[in-house]
Amino acid sequence: MKLPLSKYVWFDGKYIPVEKAKVPITTHAIHYGTSIFEGIRAYWNEKNLFIFRLEEHVERFRRSGQFYNISLNFSDEEITNAIIGICKKNKIKKSCYIRPFYFVGDYGINLHVTKDAPTSVAIFSFPFGDLFNKNGISAGIVSWRKFSDASTPTQAKMGGNYLNSIIATQEAKRNGVDEAILLDHVGNVSEAPGENIFIVKNGQLLTPLLTSSALDGITRDAIIKVAKDLDIEVLERNITRSELLAAEEVFLTGTAAEITPVTSIDSQIIGNKKPGDITKKMMQEYTDIVMNQHDSFAHWLTAVY
Ligand code: PMP
Repeated sequence: MKLPLSKYVWFDGKYIPVEKAKVPITTHAIHYGTSIFEGIRAYWNEKNLFIFRLEEHVERFRRSGQFYNISLNFSDEEITNAIIGICKKNKIKKSCYIRPFYFVGDYGINLHVTKDAPTSVAIFSFPFGDLFNKNGISAGIVSWRKFSDASTPTQAKMGGNYLNSIIATQEAKRNGVDEAILLDHVGNVSEAPGENIFIVKNGQLLTPLLTSSALDGITRDAIIKVAKDLDIEVLERNITRSELLAAEEVFLTGTAAEITPVTSIDSQIIGNKKPGDITKKMMQEYTDIVMNQHDSFAHWLTAVY
């Protein structure tokens, strides 16, 4: 998949044309996955471009690297300004995806990564619409388990961790479904390869605990807060495989996936094969919020222009 990248990228403090942003083949991150990344969306509502939950993304960006003492050599303010700046520099007036990342650079074959290891930071962006079919997708529980905190920190959003997502996605696609669902190390529901998961049971919203190795998703957090605002009860708790299959509704949440209904799992129909009422309500609220049409959540938006 070749991305329609915007002309300029931000690379270690400078805006440069994308074709000039190069790294040596000895870059540590290529060999060992020592990279940290964020996925951020910005939404164009015909008046302005709004970056969704920028502060939370920048916070997680820094925190992810701290698990491994990988240094982010720019302040939160500099990263924030660079993310806003990349939109301005490229004169973006379309909804887009923004990918900031930092990585261990030329550090030989050394596995002893310290805070003094050289790192670089880059940001690119591209226009982006729906990742998934918003009328509902099929999913399958894969045989690979979500890695647990017993082996690597689950809350570090790092390159290496995504091999688990990649192998899960390969299995799902091989089985002919749109998306994988992973169970945690003890067999409870964890999450999808790049999304958190919610189910509706007896009219209540349930989502796995972070102790089920789910990422502390920013969209997950948004849905929890929006549901509370709507007086819909939300519970974070262990969810069993059979509860998932018997759910009234299932949806995935993530920056790229936004709110995506799941209408079948392992060939079993969820609900009546259409997005359910709570799912539809959440999708509508989310759209209103990101398009700056929901005053009580306007503080989640950063206007670019
Ligand atoms: N889980 C994983 C493994 C992810 O990669 C993502 C995407 N960042 C999510 C959940 C959803 O997180 P967010 O809502 O912050 O995008």
